[in-house]
Amino acid sequence: MDFKKITSHAKEYGFIFQSSEIYDGLAAVYDYGQNGAALKNNIKNYWWKAMVQSHEEIVGIDSAIFMHPKTWKASGHVDVFNDPLIDNKDSKKRYRADVLIEEFMDKLETKAEKEIKKARKRFGDSFDREVFVSTNERVKGYYNRRDESASRLATAMKDNDLEDLRKHIEDLEIACPVSGSRNWTDVRQFNLMFSTQLGNIAGEEGKLYLRPETAQGIFVNFLNVAKTSRQRIPFGIAQIGKAFRNEIIARQFIFRMREFEQMEMQFFVRPGDELKWYEHWKEERMRWHLALGTPKERFRFHEHDNLAHYANAAVDIHYQFPFGFKELEGIHSRTDFDLRSHEELSGRKMQYYDPELEKSYIPYVVETSIGLDRMFLSQLSESLQEETVPDASGKESQRIVMKLHPILAPVKCAVLPLVKNKPELTEKARKMFDDLKYVVDCQYDEKDAIGRRYRRQDAVGTPWCVTVDFDTLTDDTVTLRDRDTLQQKRVSVEEVKTTLRSGVDLETTLRSI
Ligand code: ATP
Repeated sequence: MDFKKITSHAKEYGFIFQSSEIYDGLAAVYDYGQNGAALKNNIKNYWWKAMVQSHEEIVGIDSAIFMHPKTWKASGHVDVFNDPLIDNKDSKKRYRADVLIEEFMDKLETKAEKEIKKARKRFGDSFDREVFVSTNERVKGYYNRRDESASRLATAMKDNDLEDLRKHIEDLEIACPVSGSRNWTDVRQFNLMFSTQLGNIAGEEGKLYLRPETAQGIFVNFLNVAKTSRQRIPFGIAQIGKAFRNEIIARQFIFRMREFEQMEMQFFVRPGDELKWYEHWKEERMRWHLALGTPKERFRFHEHDNLAHYANAAVDIHYQFPFGFKELEGIHSRTDFDLRSHEELSGRKMQYYDPELEKSYIPYVVETSIGLDRMFLSQLSESLQEETVPDASGKESQRIVMKLHPILAPVKCAVLPLVKNKPELTEKARKMFDDLKYVVDCQYDEKDAIGRRYRRQDAVGTPWCVTVDFDTLTDDTVTLRDRDTLQQKRVSVEEVKTTLRSGVDLETTLRSI
């Protein structure tokens, strides 16, 4: 579905609001409404249960957002957590130089894909993508130019060559989307951390940062957790929490926010074992995504051309957002970089005694890091669909439906009296709601015609609707409507409960990962 439609649907149905909207909002900061908060909690729950509950060797913690300022010196964030920024002198708009180049590369890829699509149509069943891509001069040209740009960009980023970033933008003749001009400033580095000040200490000493990642809260607690949990390597520490980055470009809705949430897990392993575990987590995290029923072709592994200062291997799971394949999750082999730096700066030993090897060492770390808000956006765009379906009278009509996995749906079941102005029906329906609300998240709704109420529930992804009518008064059965198949079954209240319980049960999904 069109991205604009997705964002306006998210607002209209209480999923996401612009922060401080009455003051015209704050760029790249968003609030989650009643349905959004529920969906977000359900995603967190699915992640936590899959990562912590399902793994005897992983424990979960909740560390503070503020940390000792030396943490960020040790982690490298004070010195190298920068983005290269460039301004257009005419529009005065600010961009990330690397993103401008990446977007240009995306355009080349889109052009190539268009040619491939056209050819597939022309050749029909006999079409061989590989042969076409390797022989068609135009498509080869697009891919070659993209690859050249990718490696030039990776080198410039690695060498911190800001001059070449600017030259690269000029060579590609990239124009500002707002002014249309190519009148660029030099490229400068911009640190992404927000800072604030402790009340009782003046100057640099009292400078605090809002954490730009949750991972450091795990590293500094490594010894505490190792000791108190009696875990033996390999073991993991997981946490869900807020992170803050002063992003230069504030576009694409909740894809890139200044305040967001991360779900991270650091897996501590023996030095030398890290690449084995890296492969393991890469596969397992992909299974976690697929277990929600999202089609495989929506995901891609994307190996990093440009490794971060702490990593010896890194891959992103890209999801096909409405604006293209983009990073949803990262799996990084972080070596012993963080623990070693903390040991050096704090003077405390960050070593683990391995009883099997009978020696101490600084463990290596494999991390899985997913943005909760990006996961939310991927589910929103994946599940929101426009369909033509028969209405109550059998005529064709349009509906907007969110086909969320029931374990993620904000409301699992809506209880609806067939009509509003019959007290015997509304009383019965209310009673039923008061009973079912202890089984799953339910909603009671009596306003408007039944067809409109169904559509309202479809629009927020409610998997089941229970309708109370006159027969219910005599035989205690109700109509159970399924959101996706639109099938309506006459069932007892006990059967409703069984369907709800099994429909939202995480067990089958967790076992399939
Ligand atoms: P990007 O390249 O898109 O800026 P990143 O590589 O800096 O992302 P990481 O530092 O690996 O991201 O962070 C781990 C995860 O946190 C990302 O995969 C993403 O899902 C999420 N994330 C990072 N920055 C943001 C942001 N500004 N808004 C929302 N989610 C974010």
